[in-house]
Amino acid sequence: MQKERVVIIGSGPAGMAAALYTARAQLNPLVIIGNQLGGQAAITHEIENYPGFLSITGPELMDKMKEQGEHFGAKFEWDMVQSIDFSTGSPFTVKTSQEEYSADTVIVTIGADPRKLNVPGEIDGIGRGVSYCGTCDGFFFRGKDIVVVGGGDSAVSEAIFLTRFATSVTLIHRRDSLRAGVQLQKRFFENEKTKIVWNSVIEEITKDTTGIVNAVALKDIITGETSTLPTQGVFIFVGHTPNSPILGKELAMNDEGYLIIDERHRTNIEGVFAAGEIADQMWRQVATSVGQGTAAAMSAIHWLDENEETLQPLEAQVQETKAEDVQVDVKTEATQPQISFNLKNISQW
Ligand code: NAP
Repeated sequence: MQKERVVIIGSGPAGMAAALYTARAQLNPLVIIGNQLGGQAAITHEIENYPGFLSITGPELMDKMKEQGEHFGAKFEWDMVQSIDFSTGSPFTVKTSQEEYSADTVIVTIGADPRKLNVPGEIDGIGRGVSYCGTCDGFFFRGKDIVVVGGGDSAVSEAIFLTRFATSVTLIHRRDSLRAGVQLQKRFFENEKTKIVWNSVIEEITKDTTGIVNAVALKDIITGETSTLPTQGVFIFVGHTPNSPILGKELAMNDEGYLIIDERHRTNIEGVFAAGEIADQMWRQVATSVGQGTAAAMSAIHWLDENEETLQPLEAQVQETKAEDVQVDVKTEATQPQISFNLKNISQW
């Protein structure tokens, strides 16, 4: 089993920031990337609200963050976490699809996944006209008429982005006002390719004989009236569901599955910290996740510092110790390796 001081689960903005800070504290953190390097941010086409960049694509920003973390000694593994045993306390056993790690601290930054509509035709329509990512799939809808579902920032900004490809983009929203920010709304309503259907929900996504999406069945929730809207693409942006099921039952979560943390990003289990969308239902910005990942990393660094006497050695330290620090017990003449840690400098982040 590979021994690590810090294992970071997830590689979104929070995980990247945690990796940078713990790497600069010389802890050589291990980041388990998950199924998408950069998390949700990496599938955002254009980011204009991350300080320091007038405009940058999500993948580019996340690549830069990874590069910076690696520069200071963070390790990134393309792997998926299968389970973590929190029941024993630190060190925690982290099982991935390829490895097993013993981690003194775990920083959970596994984020949240796009929420589903749960209507007939949705899941089997994925890759056949149903999508949760405009940046990934927009290109395939050149010259097509598509719909976008939702009324928040994601739906409206993705709808605007998708007008680059589609002939028309119809936003379907269940209420009569949008949750999205004013600037986004302005850009949406000024765009000649956009339309909106208010107070309506999709009841079914239908397909042609080849299995490709060809329409949505709509219901007006005020009048109860039903209608069919022909479309070749359905992009769904109706919020997120936290990726907490793999965390088991030991970590405290709220009713919706978001981790409960304190102001220092500590979970209810000593040595386990959390940041980003897995613990944040409110802000969900790249900038806020970076700040939260930073705070979680600083707490983990402090925790390791406070507990350094009890930590087991890393393999490299054992070897170093054998060479340099072996002391002879005069009474028994047995050799007793003296394990020493050098975590004192970690406060100089
Ligand atoms: P969100 O703000 O939670 O909006 C979800 C939208 O989906 C809401 O309009 C909601 O309707 C609708 N909805 C939820 N469940 C639905 C269902 N079953 N059927 C139909 N509609 C449903 O989620 P988000 O847009 O993904 O944004 C999440 C966070 O990220 C927010 O804090 C947002 O500000 C941020 N964000 C920011 C940017 C940016 O450019 N600054 C871009 C993307 C996201 P109701 O309005 O009726 O509840």
